[in-house]
Amino acid sequence: MANNETIMQYFEWYLNNDGIWWKRCMAKAKPLADAGITGVWLPPAYKGTSQDDVGYGVYDMYDLGEFDQKGTVRTKYGTKEEYLKAIKTLQKEGVKVFADIVLNHRLGADETEDVMAYTVAQNDRNQVTGGERQIKVWSKFTFPGRKGKYSKFQWDHNCFTGTDWDENTKEQGQLYCFSGKKWEQQTDIENGNFDYLMGCDVDMDNPEVVEEIFNWLSWYIDETGIDGVRLDAVKHIKFDFYRDMIKRIRSAKKIALPAIGEYWSGDIGRLQYYLDTVENQMSLFDVTLHYNFYNASVQGAGFDMKMIFDNALVKYRPNNAVTFVDNHDTQYGQSLESFIQDWFKPLAYAIILLREAGLPCIFYSDFYGNPGRDRPAVPNLERLIRIRKSYAYGEQKDYFDDFHIVGWTRGGDKEHPDSGLAVIMSNAEGGAKDMYVGKQFAGEMFYDAMGECTEPVQVREDGNCTFYTDSGKVSVWVRKGAFEDIEING
Ligand code: CA
Repeated sequence: MANNETIMQYFEWYLNNDGIWWKRCMAKAKPLADAGITGVWLPPAYKGTSQDDVGYGVYDMYDLGEFDQKGTVRTKYGTKEEYLKAIKTLQKEGVKVFADIVLNHRLGADETEDVMAYTVAQNDRNQVTGGERQIKVWSKFTFPGRKGKYSKFQWDHNCFTGTDWDENTKEQGQLYCFSGKKWEQQTDIENGNFDYLMGCDVDMDNPEVVEEIFNWLSWYIDETGIDGVRLDAVKHIKFDFYRDMIKRIRSAKKIALPAIGEYWSGDIGRLQYYLDTVENQMSLFDVTLHYNFYNASVQGAGFDMKMIFDNALVKYRPNNAVTFVDNHDTQYGQSLESFIQDWFKPLAYAIILLREAGLPCIFYSDFYGNPGRDRPAVPNLERLIRIRKSYAYGEQKDYFDDFHIVGWTRGGDKEHPDSGLAVIMSNAEGGAKDMYVGKQFAGEMFYDAMGECTEPVQVREDGNCTFYTDSGKVSVWVRKGAFEDIEING
């Protein structure tokens, strides 16, 4: 039986623009593998609108820090050569690399074009608000610094559906759809139609564009050897696009290419509808569980812990849910700010790391802390990952039966010595809960690996045991053998 996998989002929004990130990834390959990390999601590696672009302001996807474009050869994270080395080093340590794929939009065009367009309402993009007129848009991408290397394809307004800027009027807050075009019809329905997000919106209804994207993805996989993909902003791209693209690239390259989509919505119905439409070709980040964590952390003792999995993707689609606590967008000051409060983070991480369902994704800043933003590392996070890797196996028994104190047990399996555990947490006063951990543990002592409760407990003859937790804390009870291993390595 294989070991549990754990991936890490290995970046955050506010990294310095010092060009040493890929080198840092390389240096951390072994420590990450040792900590139980089996995969990393790296930031977008291609040239953005400027050197300090985080990676989502895409300019040229063939420029991985190789050409002098946008005033720089390297990206925020380094050069192409360093990127490729980092990937190889991570893979040598057994850490898979997930590349961040941003296909929805392009920014930083080289030239303007005069284009006929009509305006639509921001909050109802199906509603046309103005007649056709000529506007001047930044929509011609010639990539003069790359000079046609890898691809001669140049982008112009025919490759895009619309934009939000007319260089003639410089009017804020407008949204333009190009004449003869319409928004892709199968996107998220927020604002009537959520095809448009930012910049020049890439037109997936244009077969030449789809072909160029396939060629690029094919090139990118050959060039970098990535293991999997994280797909940005999938709700803004017509749903059939990724269904077809993922199938096609997997079959063309004969690779598994695990894919994780970012469909940012707190509506479980939409997440499930998307998975159905793409025929489960990808997993999705469990945004609904994230919002439950957020609400629980903000409401404190007012939150009913029995409801922690209500509407969570991991509850309905356990095999297609990538569970997470926070990410670069939910950080303070970012577009989807909903940062889980410190006291709840160890509880949230125990929930995503120590249960059967879901692939957990650890946020960089939670693991290392973020001193520049005055953020502490989550206490005991590395220990929780280690416990997941070594001991979180076997049958799961749930005790989400109380407003405040909830928990679960894992019975362990034969392939993982000393595996099996009990988790108990409280969002209010501390207390105890009787849970069945298994007759195979009768008479054995269990210890709290979180160090919150210092006294061990003994499993009774019938396999039940009384486990304890402190107020607002999580305790993870493991066997003596497991405990010693964790102590030595932790
Ligand atoms: Ca779009």
